[in-house]
Amino acid sequence: LRQPNLQLADGHTMPQLGFGVYKLADQATMNTAIAAAYQAGYRLFDTAQAYQNEAELGTAFKQLALPRTELFITTKIAEVNQGYDNTLRSVELSLKRLQIEQLDLLLIHWPIHSQFFATWRALERLKAEKIVRSIGVSNYHQTHLDYLATKANEQPVVNQIENHPYLSQEPLLAYNRKQHIVSQAWSPLGRGAVLQDPTLIKIALKHQRSVAQIILRWHLQRGLAVIPKSQNPQRINENATIFDFKLDADDMTAIARLNRYQRTGDDPEVVYQIE
Ligand code: NAD
Repeated sequence: LRQPNLQLADGHTMPQLGFGVYKLADQATMNTAIAAAYQAGYRLFDTAQAYQNEAELGTAFKQLALPRTELFITTKIAEVNQGYDNTLRSVELSLKRLQIEQLDLLLIHWPIHSQFFATWRALERLKAEKIVRSIGVSNYHQTHLDYLATKANEQPVVNQIENHPYLSQEPLLAYNRKQHIVSQAWSPLGRGAVLQDPTLIKIALKHQRSVAQIILRWHLQRGLAVIPKSQNPQRINENATIFDFKLDADDMTAIARLNRYQRTGDDPEVVYQIE
């Protein structure tokens, strides 16, 4: 069941496959999903303060008696909790809700201009105090990364960004790589719409795999980390069964051509402009 790990620039490693828990709300649904995910081999679990389900995720880990040392837990600072003191306080509460002593990865959920450096300084302090092992960002474009680098002591080791065949973001991926930042794809399945794409259906038939598996495999072969979400145990398992086949160069080229700059979420460049 062991999944591959990616090397982070700070010396730690991170599972390439993770399980996103956005919109998993009640305890029973959470428990079923987490049990299925752990059974399928997922070890990274991605939540956020804004998802309002850190407590349910923490309770699921406890009730299922999953060993903490086997888990890689990510949360993200909500927009309302940005700023130096707010970030420190909010992380204390996140740890309580998750019932853990330390986070494996803490991300700033979105770049917000007025609290930009204060929030990052708090993350640097939390890392120095070993309250979090690794620190990173989410929804940062090159402009945001460059701006952060002007004052940061530590560079982010992960940038979690929207990524799927309709929004492949190759230039940003290349920039992350150049900065030794691991790219982690959110909405790796484009929240469903991409699953009907005729080109992907053709490739899926060729490999006798589902379209979701083809898309996730495409991410892996580009070196990205992925955090697909489902609450259906059969799909949770399907989305983890992606380490036993390979896409060929023709498949990779065909999928690359599907890019159409189509987002499921906000455009960070538009919402958070660096002057
Ligand atoms: P996703 O691309 O993972 O799509 C999830 C949806 O696709 C499911 O709800 C289900 O309807 C469908 N699906 C999943 N597996 C399938 C399968 N095998 N076959 C058919 N349909 C399938 O989208 P997401 O939930 O938006 O993103 C995944 C995770 O990324 C979230 O849970 C969250 O952890 C993270 N995320 C982060 C941000 C951010 O700003 N950092 C934003 C959105 C999501």
